[in-house]
Amino acid sequence: MSNLLNDEFDLYMLVVAHPDDSEFSSAGTVARLTDAGKRVVIIQVTSGDKGCPDPHASPIDIAKNREAEMLEAASRLGVEEVVFLRCPDGELMPDLDLREKIVRMIRTWKPDVIITHDPYRPYALHGDHRAVGLATTDAVYPTARDPLYFPEHFQGGLEPHKTAEIWYFGPEKPDKIVDITSTFDRKIHALEAHASQVGDVKELEIRMRDRARELAENKEFELGEAFKVVQMRR
Ligand SMILES: [Zn+2]
Repeated sequence: MSNLLNDEFDLYMLVVAHPDDSEFSSAGTVARLTDAGKRVVIIQVTSGDKGCPDPHASPIDIAKNREAEMLEAASRLGVEEVVFLRCPDGELMPDLDLREKIVRMIRTWKPDVIITHDPYRPYALHGDHRAVGLATTDAVYPTARDPLYFPEHFQGGLEPHKTAEIWYFGPEKPDKIVDITSTFDRKIHALEAHASQVGDVKELEIRMRDRARELAENKEFELGEAFKVVQMRR
């Protein structure tokens, strides 16, 4: 089990369903990556336009607000690139349409590592999280890699791309715990940017710290974030 960030990789791409998914799962890791000079791109599949308990709220206004919150959170983590695909919140399916959008992102940014939802965790899983995890997995292999898939991409100058690894967050059985002891405060600071979602920050911090401590149990560091790594570039 490794907590090391690999020196040979330069570009990390997160593919997530909603604004705040990347912060809840991976903000401590993202801050470590940007501190190490790595480039991080966040692909937001929806803009979370249904993430509000008020039945009279406008989805357009919610999305606008959540995109602004997301950009602020990203900037607090040193992430310069966030792409909004603006698919409708709560309506994602792991279909060819979603796969094509993600393949296009892979061929555009050429990530070494993709960090996304673990779609194989059983039971309590948001449908959008499952859809993004599955569509991303299928996008990495074989679709983005092989030139006969979505050949129209190549007319615009894109090329096939092999991603080296997928890191699934929220896994049942993690095999990589990243040490986020030094970046935990920045994780909380980034989560605070999602003001419409997080509520009482003190309570959130306690909950997040407990979870991070649990994940780092029996490790030589105090706080961790957990991933399941799958090697793709063989
Ligand atoms: Zn989500």
